[in-house]
Amino acid sequence: NETEKQTLEHQLNRRTKNISNALSLSYTEPIQMSRSAFQFMYDTDGNTILDAYNNIMQVGHCHPRVVEAGQRTMARLNTNTRYVYEELLSYSEKLLSKFPSQLNKVFFVNSGSAASDLAMRMAKTHTNKKKVMVLEHGYHGNTQNGIDISHYKYNHKGGKGKMEHILQTPMPKVYGCGFESESEASAHYSDITKKQIADEEGNIAAFIAEPIVGCGGQVPLAQNYLKEVYPKIRAQGGICISDEVQVGFGRLGSHFWGYEMYNVVPDMVILGKPMGNGHPIGAVVTTSEIAESFDNGMEFFSSFGGNPVSCGIGEAVLDVIEEDRLQAHAFEVGSYLKDELSALKERYKAIGDVRGSGLFLGVEIIRPNGSPDTALAQTIKNSLRENYILISTDGPYDNVLKIKPPLYFNLTNSAELINQLKIILDKTIKIDNFKQNKKK
Ligand code: PMP
Repeated sequence: NETEKQTLEHQLNRRTKNISNALSLSYTEPIQMSRSAFQFMYDTDGNTILDAYNNIMQVGHCHPRVVEAGQRTMARLNTNTRYVYEELLSYSEKLLSKFPSQLNKVFFVNSGSAASDLAMRMAKTHTNKKKVMVLEHGYHGNTQNGIDISHYKYNHKGGKGKMEHILQTPMPKVYGCGFESESEASAHYSDITKKQIADEEGNIAAFIAEPIVGCGGQVPLAQNYLKEVYPKIRAQGGICISDEVQVGFGRLGSHFWGYEMYNVVPDMVILGKPMGNGHPIGAVVTTSEIAESFDNGMEFFSSFGGNPVSCGIGEAVLDVIEEDRLQAHAFEVGSYLKDELSALKERYKAIGDVRGSGLFLGVEIIRPNGSPDTALAQTIKNSLRENYILISTDGPYDNVLKIKPPLYFNLTNSAELINQLKIILDKTIKIDNFKQNKKK
């Protein structure tokens, strides 16, 4: 109700009273949100905001088919996996049909964090080993287990450092690595990882990696890296896990799952975010061998994981991706956007790299000497927000623009984003030149 609209200051005061500051707010000027639809959000002043950042709303904010599925199932039956009901059967069949035949068991939970936590438990149970190999700058979840395996958390502000059972290996980032070709970079990084694996003498339960490292700054893994590393992990008795929480469900355009980009098949996949288009659902998908080891007498039960409402919503998300051909759309729009961003890179020295796939892109912002330009990345993000376009920033230096919109994001929206980026960069660079001339 607009007449009862409270000022931002008033709402922020109420927020600080009950909500900890450990929870962050986006943008210098936080946004009071009111509604959302497809790739748009609307603030309480009625402004339309283009969402180029929210990769949870995979098939668009409040997609009517997903909303309808939630309403319909919730009004009919909500229960848990201790009963037999169609939604669980139908959704698990549809979801597993998206995977190769060896990935044929699914465990439903309520978040990406719960999925990665369960993945760790299953890997340790199956292998009888304790160590976990992780990529630097990776993020896998907010539980204790999640933090333990997330270099992005344990190695940053507030983190308590690496636990003894964790092995961290460099993120195989091609940009800025000093090698001429991707294959050289790939060989360099995989050699380091392989040496670490050999040194562990068979103690590694699992290797976990995101196919494009989101919190690392949208970093695709050097092309042959996983193909080199997976066999070594398996040879010493461990399993390979792909964290598809950010990149999965067709966003990459060229592939439905991130691991497919690298011609490997993991032993376990973790899913979350886009799976329920905002409804809290996550999953672990794995092989029957690993699932069998886990069936060791201890029941696995989740009060909400796999309930009919979540399954109904998850199935609607898959149906919309398929019927609206959103993967092909992500390919088309993402290719256009990446080309346009690459053209900006030729025009502005501040853009060091444009990377990613489909509608999962990263733009690395640098100073003239090539070092990260965190301040400029923040200026760009906040200026776009002032112009009603949402993007995010991430990476170890928070200097990478993150673009991962709902998949309804279209060519017109992309052109608008590019146009605003140009205006902001022109303005910022002019101001910089002015400052430099003044100094002279
Ligand atoms: N893995 C990755 C790659 C993620 O990006 C996230 C969430 N940012 C998670 C796991 C955890 O998911 P959730 O926030 O649903 O617990």
